[in-house]
Parts: sequence; C-alpha cells; structure tokens
Amino acid sequence: MAAQESPLNLPRPIGRLAPTPTGTLHLGNARSFLLAWLSIRQQGGTLILRIEDIDTPRVKAGAVQSAIDDLRWLGLDWDYGPDMHAGQIGGIPVTQSLRMQRYREVLLKLVRDGQVYRCSCTRSQIAQAAASAPHESGLSQLEGPIYPGTCRGHLNEVNQLFHFSESDPAALRWAFQPGSTPWNDGLLGHQNADPSLQLGDFVIGRASGMPSYQLAVVVDDHDMGVTEVVRGDDLVLSTYRQLAILKHLGWSIPDYYHVPLVLDADGRRMAKRQGDSLNYFREQNIQPQAIIGYLAYSLRLIDRPRALSPQDLIGKLDWTRLPKEPTKFTGRLN
Ligand code: GLU
Repeated sequence: MAAQESPLNLPRPIGRLAPTPTGTLHLGNARSFLLAWLSIRQQGGTLILRIEDIDTPRVKAGAVQSAIDDLRWLGLDWDYGPDMHAGQIGGIPVTQSLRMQRYREVLLKLVRDGQVYRCSCTRSQIAQAAASAPHESGLSQLEGPIYPGTCRGHLNEVNQLFHFSESDPAALRWAFQPGSTPWNDGLLGHQNADPSLQLGDFVIGRASGMPSYQLAVVVDDHDMGVTEVVRGDDLVLSTYRQLAILKHLGWSIPDYYHVPLVLDADGRRMAKRQGDSLNYFREQNIQPQAIIGYLAYSLRLIDRPRALSPQDLIGKLDWTRLPKEPTKFTGRLN
C-alpha cells in the first residue's frame, strides 16, 4: 500500500506500542506488540512507543527502561519514543505524565458539554447498589460491578462555572446515551453492545482534574494521528468507551485490532510475574528469536515454531487468518 502523509506529515498508517510501566513485559504483551509492530512495518507506516504512566500508584521505578530494553531485545523498533527525538512526536511528549495539562483541557470541555457528572459513590456503595439493580448480561462484569447510575441525576449540575479542585475526591463519570454501538474489529470481527446497559457509565477523570486511562488514550491517539490500534483483547470493552468519547469530540476513529490473550498453563491470564516475563527468559539465556518463533507460530504466521527475527515475518501478516481464541503457554517455546 502506498504510504500517505498524516497531519503530522508522517507516513501512514500510524500505530503505537503503549506499555503501562507497572512491571516487566510478559509473553502476552510481547505478542500484541509484535503484531502492532509487524502491521506497521509491513505497510511502511510510522510506529510510536508511548508510555502510559498516569496511574502513578501502580507505576514502578525502572519499568520504562525495562520495557524499552525488553522490546529492543526482541528486535522491535519504533520511529518515535521516549528514547528518541527528545521523547516527542511533532512536539507532543510520548510520555503521558507530561501531558496532564492537555488531558485536563479536554476533560473540562467534556464537563462543559454536559457529557459527564460528579459521582461520589464509594466502591462498596457501587457494589451494593449494583447487586440490587436489575441489569442486562453484564459485559463488564470481569471488570467489577456495573455502575447502576446512582449519581446520574447530577448530570446537569456541573456547568460552565465548573473548575477542578485538587482536594475534591469525586469521580467524573461519562454518561452513555442509550443505544447500541456496532463497530468492526479487524481481527475479531463485528462487535455490538449497548454500553449504557451492558457496561455502565465509566470514570473518565476526577474532579481534581486527574484524567482516566480512557481519556488519555483517546486524546493521545487523536493528537498523535494514530490510525491503527493493535492491543490485547482485554481492552475490547474499553473500545466502546473510547468510541463514545471520540464520536462526541468528532475525532476520527482508528482501525482496531484486539489480539487474543496468552493464558498460562492453568488457563489464567498472564500477569507480570516470574515465569511469564521476558526478563525471566532473558535470565535463562533463551534467545529472543525463540520467543518470536513461538509467538509467530501461536499466531499461525508460520507453520512450526522456529527461531526467527521480527523482520523475517514482514509480509506474513494476514489479519483474516489469525486465531480468534486465546493461546495457552505450557512453558515450552517449541
Ligand atoms: N497501556 C495499556 C496496557 O498496557 C494499553 C492501552 C492501549 O493500547 O490502548 O494495557
């Protein structure tokens, strides 16, 4: 496909690797990042390494460098990242904690547009109210109880005079409009749900001005001209939230590809624990080509596991042929 120019004059498609620096990367992260990388490299586009570090209590010192080291060890590269071009793309920092002012500006606009309301419910109040509320098949149950709309009555109370107050602990919730939201996932296919019923209103920020992940991702994808989002399928539900924000703001919608997770031998989601982490494989002197070969095989990009570099896979990605179900890692790479 011929490369087109983006608003920042970068070759398209524009994709991103977006690690949250809360620990070392695991095989599941590596699998999604490999696909995100491969798709962009195969099409001659631009890849950004973006650091999603606004969830400060969970962010670990040294985790940014360790993600960079792990990704480079695997043989992945990027065109913009914290370690290149002064950590910026077109003047925009690729590290979210340096963009708080911009997120607050958008959050304030959403407040003034009457899209969000103040909510001071505690976790246990939400759990109690959700348990007694009738609800649809709760799509978001994996993420916790569906917010039953207790504070929705405050929707018109935040107004033009609203200002952030550092000491205000209340949440700001996005009010979903009723109705279904169909969208297409380039890997998983057609998706459809009514997020107002099946997900519930979500926290988009705090009255203190702190943005949530949902908001920061949308603002960054827009400002950086991202056209292609490849990430783990644990974020499928978040896509409904991000689509709602994007549509309200009239911003363009990237192509989404959600990659099925890698499960451990017991069928649990991988976590950043020993045995699953890339760090662990490195310490065992396992070669990165063995990991790439295993991941490529698990994605059916090759027909048997063998040592490979990411470059060897260029031209082999066909989204229609990837497995739609999770992979179980039994501890063996071949
Ligand atoms: N930072 C998120 C994560 O590590 C990924 C967000 C995204 O790709 O939109 O799970």
